[in-house]
Amino acid sequence: MTLGIVAALHEEITDLLAEMAPGAHVESIGMRDYHVGKLHGHDCVVVLARVGKVAAAATTAALIHRFAIDELVFTGVAGGLAHGLSVGDIVVADTLVQHDMDASPLFPRFEIPLLGRDTFASAPPLRDALAKAARDWLAEEMATQVPVALRTEWQMSAPRVHVGQVASGDQFVSSAGEVSRLRDALPQTLAVEMEGAAVAQVCHEYGVPFAVMRTLSDSADDTAHVDFPRFLREVASHYSHGILRRFLTERRA
Ligand code: SAH
Repeated sequence: MTLGIVAALHEEITDLLAEMAPGAHVESIGMRDYHVGKLHGHDCVVVLARVGKVAAAATTAALIHRFAIDELVFTGVAGGLAHGLSVGDIVVADTLVQHDMDASPLFPRFEIPLLGRDTFASAPPLRDALAKAARDWLAEEMATQVPVALRTEWQMSAPRVHVGQVASGDQFVSSAGEVSRLRDALPQTLAVEMEGAAVAQVCHEYGVPFAVMRTLSDSADDTAHVDFPRFLREVASHYSHGILRRFLTERRA
């Protein structure tokens, strides 16, 4: 069983890469480094896809063709779209949709032309294991890894895990107007990002089980870009690392 672990930004996998067992090696294909080796007892291929749907899809296809992965987990950050979500919450995707796909009037809005569907479902066992690891990490480890001063600063009073729809598109959503347009068009969507639904489409086409986890870094509104790199470095990197480590060690049990 080989697990592909994919992220869009360096900070999301740096600490995990440092934990790969001795003997891991790197294969460079298509301007990406695939780190092949053991992580907490599991055969893994860890790769930085970079940002956007094309980058994510190309990386996923290479993981499937070249490395014969059996399953895939994507970790990253996202903007919160639904009411009641806060920065520091975690969204684990159950379905994913490409919010910028619109071939209407030829096809219904959001439908992937000639594929006959607009949403892709993550694999329930992977999704549930990831959500459990996220809940356990929040309950038992978050407080020691994200200092209270940072939690106060980012107003993370009691971070929670949500399971629901994630929307992806080649756009950093950062205005109240865009948030309200997306809410109207996709009322079930919890979070917005730039890669998950592309990974989901490729995994669907190849029959590879996958799951997507996102730490909310912003509210996708006019303040979304403010301090984004700092949140990634100081908070989200700990989430990604801690939750994936937990996910891998709990699976072994
Ligand atoms: N490299 C830049 C920008 C990264 S783009 C930087 O570090 O400042 C944003 C990344 O975070 C993408 O991978 C995307 O999936 C996710 N993301 C976080 N908030 C988002 C939002 N409001 N809209 C879209 N994507 C978001």
